[in-house]
Amino acid sequence: LVSRQRKPEDTIVDVNGHKIGNGEQTFIFGPCAVESYEQVLAVAKSIKAKGLTMMRGGAYKPRTSPYDFQGLGLEGLKILKRVADETGLSIVTEIITPSHLEEALEYIDVIQIGARNMQNFELLKEAGMVNKPVLLKRGLAATIDEFINAAEYIISKGNSQIMLCERGIRTYERATRNTLDISAVPILKQETHLPVFVDVTHSTGRKDLLLPTAKAAIAVGADGVMAEVHPDPAVALSDSAQQMDIPQFDEFYKEIQRFMNTH
Ligand code: PEP
Ligand code: MN
Repeated sequence: LVSRQRKPEDTIVDVNGHKIGNGEQTFIFGPCAVESYEQVLAVAKSIKAKGLTMMRGGAYKPRTSPYDFQGLGLEGLKILKRVADETGLSIVTEIITPSHLEEALEYIDVIQIGARNMQNFELLKEAGMVNKPVLLKRGLAATIDEFINAAEYIISKGNSQIMLCERGIRTYERATRNTLDISAVPILKQETHLPVFVDVTHSTGRKDLLLPTAKAAIAVGADGVMAEVHPDPAVALSDSAQQMDIPQFDEFYKEIQRFMNTH
């Protein structure tokens, strides 16, 4: 059902009236994890000031180590909702288990399914049964075919409001956190009718590579870019090395706008 052969026209995902997949690029910025109301609000204001409509932030964090910050959970969802109500931004946040999904729906606008859960088939099926857009990230070492099949799990249950997100895959290369598979973007656009995003933060893990990879993503036809922003990355409870601070975010956005206007 996700195949372009079956449905040649692009799927447009509608997030509170903001259309994704219609040829314009969508940006999803926000902190790695929700840490406090003040932290989320600071980033939200800066997103809002750019005229953007969406914000990300993790309330449930699927961390590699059980001793790392696991997220604020429901309290984090409530913070996101409060900021959304105050700013009008739409919220993208990760859900890690089917048991959290129902409760989360009233707080969020887009269900993110993270790399570590790309083959959590019960979660995929549940996300397929709700009436909310889903941002599905590519698994840590998933082939494109496995990624497409994960999206098929969602759509097979009835929900076709799906966005795919390339976020880098595991290779032998250690210069970057993961290896951004840029060719996955045009392949996914050819093989499916779904919008495709590139997460430049988790794919590179390097602030100096955010801008060049975002440009590359747009050049190869991505429908959007995701990147992490934190008001004070040095004290962030997760991914502190790779999140932009607000001045860096301003500069990044200015440069990517310039790139889009000249290409
Ligand atoms: C995230 O976007 O918050 C995240 C944890 O990314 P990924 O699932 O791609 O590792
Ligand atoms: Mn992160």
